[in-house]
Amino acid sequence: MRDWFRPHHMVHRLEELDCATLRERGLRGVLLDLDNTLAPWRSQEVSGAVEAWLARLRTYDLRACVVTNAAHTRRVAPVAERLGLPWVTSAYKPLPHGFRRGMALLDTEPETTAMIGDLMTMDIIGGNRLGLYTVLVEPMCNREALLTRWLQRPLEALIGRRPRCCKLV
Ligand SMILES: [Mg+2]
Repeated sequence: MRDWFRPHHMVHRLEELDCATLRERGLRGVLLDLDNTLAPWRSQEVSGAVEAWLARLRTYDLRACVVTNAAHTRRVAPVAERLGLPWVTSAYKPLPHGFRRGMALLDTEPETTAMIGDLMTMDIIGGNRLGLYTVLVEPMCNREALLTRWLQRPLEALIGRRPRCCKLV
């Protein structure tokens, strides 16, 4: 149970994550949170650095899928499609259904899949519960949903958002 609160790895930014090491770990696919992980909250603007990282991911034969709790397909689909990624909306993370839908789209199993996101209470706990390799990133910006700011961030502080650990091995 304690390990549910512990990401396997942490980075400041998505693009700092070493694709070669992910591949060497036996991973074949990554599930990517959207808001404040791939793009700033509620934005459709993806930085050149993130796009370059996604291109690098492909060179290592790693597939990627957007898995977001956002419900509005018309906001998510244009971003995902521009990046050439399949997507899952209304994932209801940390519940397992959205993670499983993402893995089905990637044709991967939990042991060959990573979940990368900025929220311990959704991305990391949900991924850990299913046995995924979890990577916590710093949120891209200070803007976020009120529920996140007033409930989830305090919860993260309570459980220790910055646990010891997390060297990518
Ligand atoms: Mg997020």
